[in-house]
Order: sequence, then C-alpha cells, then structure tokens
Amino acid sequence: MCASQNHNPGHRQAVLLINCYTSCLTHHFNFDMPRLFLLIIIVSTLIQPGFAQSPQADPQRLEHRIQTLSQFGANAEGGVDRVAYSQADLDGREYIIGLMRDAGLTVRIDAGGNIIGQRHGTDADAKPIMFGSHTDSVPGGGNYDGPVGVVTALEVIELLNDAAHTTRHPLQVIDFSNEEGGLVGSLALTGKLRASALDVVSHSGLTIYDGTKAIGGNLDNRNDDQIAPGDIEAFIELHIEQGAILDNSNTDIGVVQGIVGIGWWDVTLTGVANHAGTTPMNLRDDAMLAAAELTLAVNQAATSRPGGQVATVGRIQAFPGAPNVIPGRVEISLEIRDLEQAVIDAVYADIEQRAIEISELSGVAIEFAPIDVASHPAPIDPRMRDIIANAADQLGLSYQRMPSGAGHDAQDMVSIAPTGMIFVPSRGGLSHTPQEFTSTRDMANGANVLLHTILAIDQGALDQ
Ligand SMILES: [Zn+2]
Repeated sequence: MCASQNHNPGHRQAVLLINCYTSCLTHHFNFDMPRLFLLIIIVSTLIQPGFAQSPQADPQRLEHRIQTLSQFGANAEGGVDRVAYSQADLDGREYIIGLMRDAGLTVRIDAGGNIIGQRHGTDADAKPIMFGSHTDSVPGGGNYDGPVGVVTALEVIELLNDAAHTTRHPLQVIDFSNEEGGLVGSLALTGKLRASALDVVSHSGLTIYDGTKAIGGNLDNRNDDQIAPGDIEAFIELHIEQGAILDNSNTDIGVVQGIVGIGWWDVTLTGVANHAGTTPMNLRDDAMLAAAELTLAVNQAATSRPGGQVATVGRIQAFPGAPNVIPGRVEISLEIRDLEQAVIDAVYADIEQRAIEISELSGVAIEFAPIDVASHPAPIDPRMRDIIANAADQLGLSYQRMPSGAGHDAQDMVSIAPTGMIFVPSRGGLSHTPQEFTSTRDMANGANVLLHTILAIDQGALDQ
C-alpha cells in the first residue's frame, strides 16, 4: 500500500506519502518520537524532488497534436477552414476520437454531436469531472482557438495514464460540436438549444439539424441526452485568451472570472436627405453627422467609468449613400459587453441620454432596437477560480484574474455545474485569423494547471 502511493502526483500525495512512511516505520521499526520526527524531515526532503518531478505536460506531444489537427482544413495562409459539419471537421473529429481511444477512453457521440471520451474512476458513486473545448473553426480561422483546450484535456489523460493514477471521479474529455456557429453542442447538452436554431444554415451549407446528423448526433433526441444540474462534479475549459492582456503583461495563466454578457442594438438615425451642394450647412438635418456624434458618445460612455466594460459601433450604413446627397438615414450597430448586466444597462442608459441631447440639437431622430442575440453575463464559480489560481501558484506560474470578452461553451455549462476557465496567452492578442499563435510552453503550462485543477477537485476541493 505504501509503495503504491508513489504513483500519485502533487503535494497532497506527498503528504499522504509522508503519513504512509510514518505509519509503516512506526509499525515495523518501533522508532521513538524524536528519531521519528527527524526521519520525517529527511523523508520530506527526499520527497520534494519527487513532487517537482510530478507529471509534467509534454510540450512536443502537444505541439505535434496541434500541428496534426491543423492539417485538417489547412488553408494557404497557414490557418484552417474547419467549419462545423465540413469534411475537414469530420476528419479532425476522427483524429480526436482516435487519440481518445488510444488513451483508453470509452468514446461516444451524444445527441448534440459532442464527442465525449470517458475514463473510469475508483468510486462508482462519484460524479464525472468534465473538461475540454472545441475543434471546429471560423472560416479563415487559426490553429489554436479550441484545439488547445482539447489537446490539453487529452494531455491530462496521458499524464494520468503515465503515472498509472486512477482518479476517484470518472473523467470526461469533451470536444463540443459547432462552437463557432453558435455554441450548438453545449446548448444541446444543457437543454438550452432553441428549436428555431435547428433550421439555421451553417457555414458548411448544412442546417444545424442536418449537420449534427452528419457528425453522428441526432438533435431529435437532445432532450434525452442532457446533463441536468448536479449531474457532473465540475466542468473546466482551457482556451487561448484571444486578447493581449496575458501576452502584454508576460503572465502565464488567466484565471477567468466570468464570461461577459453582450447587448446588441440596431440604431437608426433619421434626418432629411437633401442636395449636398445647394443646402447650406446651417439648414441640414444630417443623419451622418448625428451618427458620428453618437459614435463618440458610445466610446465616452464606456471609457468615462472605471471597469473593464467595452462598447463598440462596428457597422455603419448611410442612405441613400451618394457623395452628393446629405444622408437622410444612417443605420449603425451598438454592442456593449461586461461581466455585470447592471453595468451594461448603465452604459446603455448613458448612451440613450446622450442620444436624446444629440437628437434635440441636430433635428435627427434616433431610435434603438434591441437584438435578440444578446447573452447574459456568465460568472465563474468563485471556488473554481480559487482552485485554478492555487494550481498555478503551486506550479510556480504567474496568473491574473480576468474576464473573458469572447463567448465560450463554458458559459452554457455554468448553469449545470461548477465551471472554471483557464486562459493561456495568445501572441499579440490575435485570434480568428491564421496568425493566431500560442507557444508550446504556454500550452504545457496550461495543461499542468488543468491537471492540478482536476486533481484538486477529485480530492474534494469543491467540498471545502
Ligand atoms: Zn473557441
């Protein structure tokens, strides 16, 4: 029994090992207490190098797997076009299924088309710990957004296999289906996929319903194949940051505090179209001018208060849209993101107030129409943030707590399980482009944090 503890990684195991040595020695050799104390010190010292050598992610294996996956749907720019349900997506998924099987996982494809590979645990009553991300890409995407979360999840399994360590909880590695086309796999898994989404035509040309069938799922059965709240112990997603905060500050790990909510509006500004040559400047109801002022007001509303909120006008269209006509109508988009709905509401209220003032001064009517794709903020379980931060600490890695400005499958999972997110740096903050890059060292760091997070949860960190 004592010897078998040698397989276990981590400090907790080292402590167990010390306890084990203590009881063995007392039992076999009848040491007196002072000598025993000295022996414990010596054994502890001997064990420290062992702890330092606890399973470490293999950077070469991670890199090789990222590069292999990048061949499926490779484009001329060095990135991938591996949109969900395409042949490239099918090929990439086949590769992942093969890796899962080779690692001894029991693989199934659920109703939502998610690939789930399970490793058994020692406790038949323990709920699974689930972790993973996605391998589909946007059109013209890069090689890291999604795949890093899946290959690091597989790396955790490889490390546990190498150490011959069986966790108490079953482990489930998940490769979510069609993340980039609307979080389809995680919405289906958590019972939130709307019927209206099934007919949406994806980038592959197939509807979400037909596409899911093409990858081995069946959305007709999605209600029978859901995870209910409390069914799993925890969910963890590792992902590239997709921003430049970690890269700029030379920080190893991002501990995600939550996934921001997003508010979207279509804004219509209505003035009077008129001749651009014959209408004096003081007699114009220029919708473009009002739109320009409103765009500045959007920026000011976000920057004039403390916090990480962001607000953007990303699209503008003028009508009739001719060089010699004062625009009579302009349509712009408005997007606001923050971790708290109250902040989104407050920024919007500021913008609306400024719009009233701009309208009164310019004679241009301004209307806001909310768009129904908005998503609410998804806060990350504070216990999960602390477990991830502790894991980074134990490994001697620097970390920073930060929001996720992009949407992820994890935002759907927060409703059914304690959910955590680990970010690794994106060089230059680039993503959704072939230039997207994360170093092998950063991937390996992330895999090690993921492993230690899973081990901590397995050992009851969520119960404390
Ligand atoms: Zn992603």
